[in-house]
Amino acid sequence: MGFDAQSQALPGVRALQPYQPGKPVSELQRELGLEQVIKLASNENPLGCSPQVQQALQPCLSTLAIYPDGAGFELRAALAQHHGLALEQVTLGNGSNDLLEIIAHTFLAHEHAAIVAQYAFAIYGLVVRAIGAELVVVPARDYGHDLVGMAAAITAQTRILFIANPNNPTGSCLSQAQLRTFMRTLPEHVVVVLDEAYLEYAEEGGVDAAAWLAEFPALIICRTFSKAYGLAALRIGYALSSPAIADLLNRVRQPFNVSTLGLVAARAALADQDFVARSRQVNAAGKAQLQRGLQNLGLKVLPSQGNFLCVDLARPAQAVYTALLARGVIVRPLAGYDLPQHLRISVGLEAENDLCLRALAEVLA
Ligand SMILES: *Cc1c(COP(=O)(O)O)cnc(C)c1O
Repeated sequence: MGFDAQSQALPGVRALQPYQPGKPVSELQRELGLEQVIKLASNENPLGCSPQVQQALQPCLSTLAIYPDGAGFELRAALAQHHGLALEQVTLGNGSNDLLEIIAHTFLAHEHAAIVAQYAFAIYGLVVRAIGAELVVVPARDYGHDLVGMAAAITAQTRILFIANPNNPTGSCLSQAQLRTFMRTLPEHVVVVLDEAYLEYAEEGGVDAAAWLAEFPALIICRTFSKAYGLAALRIGYALSSPAIADLLNRVRQPFNVSTLGLVAARAALADQDFVARSRQVNAAGKAQLQRGLQNLGLKVLPSQGNFLCVDLARPAQAVYTALLARGVIVRPLAGYDLPQHLRISVGLEAENDLCLRALAEVLA
């Protein structure tokens, strides 16, 4: 018979649906022999990253044989200062996805449950189910989080409640006032993970971490350098929490989960807030351009506070997605999110948005 991997694996792992990342540009070029390909599929920063990052990385290239600083001291100190927190409140991750997994392993066993909203970021479900814990999915309200429903779903088994604000892939965003009211109603045994991957693009910005952590001891705020900071390739994110929670997360964290290049790049990127401001401006203009273009095509666009738009095609989206690929435009189909008629389009540079809109007009004609 040999080894049967399926039957040996944990039931929760067997039931997982693999995460579907945006198609890489090189893959589409290989498959279709296309030269010009634009990717508006992974909410990456079309401006790249701060030029100061490349400069800071140069000296690192001669130290590649040396393990990184496992404590990430300098970056954590810079982040602590940036947020008005103590260094002991910062935990680094190999992307914020790594932190989501670390948090799940810190608080969840198979007899526990975690709560997410329908259409919330898919990684929450993956990390919860891989452990074998129960995933409670609360129906969305206007494609966003129904906080009343989520609070009502809490039981004695609940250990974590995930909120993406703004949410990916729908772009919905709760106001800080709504969130604060909600937080004040929660029982003490539930950790709230507030994932602010897109906070730089949101109208209100992110929450004031120092004030919120002082008021809510079970809160963990996750942030990333993958989006507005433009460092997705280097895999670096961080969690802000009480020192007590950070101490636990750091026990679960792999000691060298963040590379030297990631540590150095993030510090340089954090120091260049002008670049972040420019990214926000370019995104606002590009988002308005895309929104207008999509509406001119007669399509419904969900309000988005991120760097992407979720558009309702009112027809099966898979064929449209494939036809766009043939024209060298990569976007993101959302069937995996139970949104088979929607596409998510990341905001690109003006020319990219224009190309995408023209390709879409052709496909829909
Ligand atoms: C992109 C994204 C992240 C960030 O992932 P990284 O692992 O930091 O690259 C986290 N949460 C949401 C909702 C995202 O869309």
